[in-house]
Amino acid sequence: MWKRRRGVATFEWCAAGVPYVAALGVFTTPGGTGARGRLHAPGGGREYTAAGRGRIAAEGETRMMGHSHAVSGALVFAAAAPFLPPLLIGRPLQPGEVLVGALLSAGAALLPDLDHHDGTVANLFGPFTRLLCRTVARLSGGHRHATHSLVFVALAGAGTQLGVARWARGFTGGLTFALLLFAVHALRSHASGRCAHSRATTVGLAAIGTAAADTWLPGTGAWLPYAVVLGTLAHVLGDCLTRQGAPLLWPYGRRFEMVLIKRTGNRFETRFLVPVMTAGTLVLVWLATFAPTALTG
Ligand SMILES: [Zn+2]
Repeated sequence: MWKRRRGVATFEWCAAGVPYVAALGVFTTPGGTGARGRLHAPGGGREYTAAGRGRIAAEGETRMMGHSHAVSGALVFAAAAPFLPPLLIGRPLQPGEVLVGALLSAGAALLPDLDHHDGTVANLFGPFTRLLCRTVARLSGGHRHATHSLVFVALAGAGTQLGVARWARGFTGGLTFALLLFAVHALRSHASGRCAHSRATTVGLAAIGTAAADTWLPGTGAWLPYAVVLGTLAHVLGDCLTRQGAPLLWPYGRRFEMVLIKRTGNRFETRFLVPVMTAGTLVLVWLATFAPTALTG
């Protein structure tokens, strides 16, 4: 149930929230609280232990959430795949389209954080992407303002639709490459560093995925706007699970929050939410591939 608290619209954790979390599923990030692992935060990777828990939680905040956002985007796309495409584009998606669509939606789920100077996208290509994100932040009013609203979700979808209609294959290929870059970077970020080799691998994987989609999935442009909408929507709703919430109704300033993640990168996120979302996505993609009528009857 939504309630107002200190000028913020909040959602109290109760039975009504269960379906939402069940729909979001969960994901595995390396090392939860107190774990030993490798941190690739600004400044390069460092070994960390339980002793540095507080510092790591703060430094790893954006990267963890980028990873989680990407998985939530993939899950929402895979969950909606049996139902929405027949309504919106007049046909069901092929198994390959569900798989690639889940990855594109994962990439789109990073777009709202283009307003974060130290987020997953900002750290993709060092100073270049950081400058891009600082510019977006300046234009959109700062982190978690315009790009974290339903207006942004609608504009992202409409812009994609327009681009596909205007430039067709070129726009579809370009956006597919960019979204795959974001998705690969976010989903493999725990295993990658910030070196040239890691970035080259990310670019290479995105290029292979783009070429494969261009060759074998010629209808990508038809459902690309839908993947962008679902991904960006998953992101802004996901941010509502944290303390800062999101201004869903921007330019109206009230922020909405349903605090399940009191500190970004906590155990609930890393050990429950992310693994469940990952498992849910894999099951749904498997169903779309091998039992496409299992969910629709
Ligand atoms: Zn965000």
